[in-house]
Amino acid sequence: MIDLHSHTTESDGTVPPVNLIAAAHRAGVTTLAITDHDTFTGYDQAVAAAREAGITLLCGIELSTKLRGRPAHLLGYFQRGPSAEFRAWVTALQMSRRDRNVRLVARLRELGLDITLEEVQARGRSMTGRPHFAQVLVEKGYVASLQQAFDEYLDESAKGYVDRNEPTLAEAAARIAAAGGVASLAHPIRIAGDLEPLLPELRRAGLGALEAYHSDHLPEHTAAFLGLAERHQLRVTGGSDFHGATKPGIELGTGRSGNLRIPPDLVARLFA
Ligand code: AMP
Ligand code: ZN
Ligand code: FE
Ligand code: FE
Repeated sequence: MIDLHSHTTESDGTVPPVNLIAAAHRAGVTTLAITDHDTFTGYDQAVAAAREAGITLLCGIELSTKLRGRPAHLLGYFQRGPSAEFRAWVTALQMSRRDRNVRLVARLRELGLDITLEEVQARGRSMTGRPHFAQVLVEKGYVASLQQAFDEYLDESAKGYVDRNEPTLAEAAARIAAAGGVASLAHPIRIAGDLEPLLPELRRAGLGALEAYHSDHLPEHTAAFLGLAERHQLRVTGGSDFHGATKPGIELGTGRSGNLRIPPDLVARLFA
């Protein structure tokens, strides 16, 4: 089985990289991509374990970008690992995230919440993000749930929100392509508005694929994105978006109750 979308404790998953390899092995996944948000640390830590387990581990990443000013996730896959230049760019993205986190802590303190950067970073490690802020707000009893933390404080429309410098999807796709990787639009079902008119320009910028197979996609979504990919000469990727306990009910390789069926020749076609 193939699974090209998974997260570890190095971003917002709950399974450490080495344990994720063991879990993939148990689940019968033979080709796995670790696609942590804005970091390669989880992939780097899993390489040796994957080799021992006989799992083909693809180097991946999931970048937070903006498309029409709205959040859009872009996956990058690197058959031979990312270039030093691309890694340096990712490090710069992490700095901008850290800068946002400093301002977000200040904003939440202004709103009367007792929260520190150290507390949040203790949970987020190399990729501290809003989900970790939400955890702290729940633990401290300011809100009852992670969703309430977003609704009241952290969502783009909420009173605590502070902006972050994120690359546009086109810029991120161009960077991935220039580094020898394949850029794939993650879970395209979440893109608001009509996607098709944007595809010619995104493809020229460096977009190489669409994630047609994803555990949030119904069969008709997958069929529609396969059609879009075909019409715009894009390749196709797929994965569960496994996060462990952060997203319960999603299994490696098979998605939600077996709704993920990734064709066995997908990886060969991706890098053909
Ligand atoms: P960040 O990259 O730190 O800005 O955090 C983005 C992550 O926060 C997303 O990948 C989601 O997992 C989560 N997130 C963003 N907005 C919401 C929301 N309204 N409700 C729940 N989770 C959200
Ligand atoms: Zn995630
Ligand atoms: Fe995503
Ligand atoms: Fe993801």
